[in-house]
Amino acid sequence: DHAVAVFTSGGDAPGMNAVVRSVVRCGIHHARDVFAVYEGYQGLVDGAGKIRKMEWTDVQMMIYKGGTVIGSARCKEFREREGRLAACKHLVDRGITNIICCGGDGSLTGANIFKLEWASLLEELRSSGRVTDAQAQKYANINIIGCVGSIDNDMVYDGTLTIGTDTALHRIVDAIDAVQSTASSHQRTFVLEIMGRHCGYLAWAAGVATGADYIFIPEAPSKHDDWESVLCAKLDHQRKRGARLCTVLVAEGAIDKFGKPIKTEYVRQVIIDRLGHDTRSTILGHVQRGGYASAYDRFLGSVSGALAVERLLRTKPEDASTIVGVKGYSVAFNPLVETIEATQMVAKHTEQLDFEAAIQARGKDFKRHWAIQ
Ligand code: ADP
Repeated sequence: DHAVAVFTSGGDAPGMNAVVRSVVRCGIHHARDVFAVYEGYQGLVDGAGKIRKMEWTDVQMMIYKGGTVIGSARCKEFREREGRLAACKHLVDRGITNIICCGGDGSLTGANIFKLEWASLLEELRSSGRVTDAQAQKYANINIIGCVGSIDNDMVYDGTLTIGTDTALHRIVDAIDAVQSTASSHQRTFVLEIMGRHCGYLAWAAGVATGADYIFIPEAPSKHDDWESVLCAKLDHQRKRGARLCTVLVAEGAIDKFGKPIKTEYVRQVIIDRLGHDTRSTILGHVQRGGYASAYDRFLGSVSGALAVERLLRTKPEDASTIVGVKGYSVAFNPLVETIEATQMVAKHTEQLDFEAAIQARGKDFKRHWAIQ
């Protein structure tokens, strides 16, 4: 009979609203009190008006909206025990021991730390008289389920899209289509920078979907020392073959084989200097994460929220935390801790420019899951 809370944290992603709506309604369907925590972990730390009990109609008209209606924030205090202590107290006061966190790897790491620390937080509150013995006993465990909200599709697990990726891909493909129609009129070459942090999925998938001539992604740097020559030879060949336009996509985290970042502006200059193409560059930027959520993200968010509630209500104290999602046409459950650890290893190796280790950490099957040979 313990209450359920849902919050969105870290970078916003289209489809997060579908998660919140689905959690609220499924929770109510199962006769639980459901709270929405506004502004991510900041709301948990602040309590008061930021943890609001939700009714059925509070989540109407939000399934299609982009971003997150209940807000997201980066919260320094939650990284410290003091902040988590305040969060624990606010949850216990409301009888909440079931939490659904929709966010990226940072947010889910925080959630896991909170779960591991829960007993000691509760004991500190009890011994200082801030919660009663009865409360400490009743709320001795906390259950956490993760839904991955991230446009980057950067979570390391098999064949499951993160919430927001599909919408971002639609935005990117629309933008590339628009640019390509003008590029084709003037026989231009366009270099487009695509979001994704350490992950090249958006650039890769958008490149395939728009027939880009060249794609730079962090996961597969050119094997050549002199990638500039390889790129130019390819573009030159395309032009000589009669292509009216050339499109080059550069993922935000793209690197060369030495781990050096590949910058959009540099690529443009190389093409101008070596080929003399009329070359323009565009950084797509925040357009990629905005707008209405796509059909798939609404579906994915809705299903994930419902799965999360169902799973929570069946969770026993000894069960490990889980991430829920959809893989192909099936329900997918992934272990939270292992998934986050693998994801953070990729980011760490990439930051250290240890490209081989990053590929290893991504898992041997990642190319297959991205449909790369
Ligand atoms: P994302 O969830 O998109 O990866 P961040 O890494 O910024 O975004 O994390 C979002 C929030 O999650 C942080 O502002 C912080 O409040 C919380 N968080 C992240 N990492 C930790 C951690 N190691 N311990 C506690 N809280 C964390």
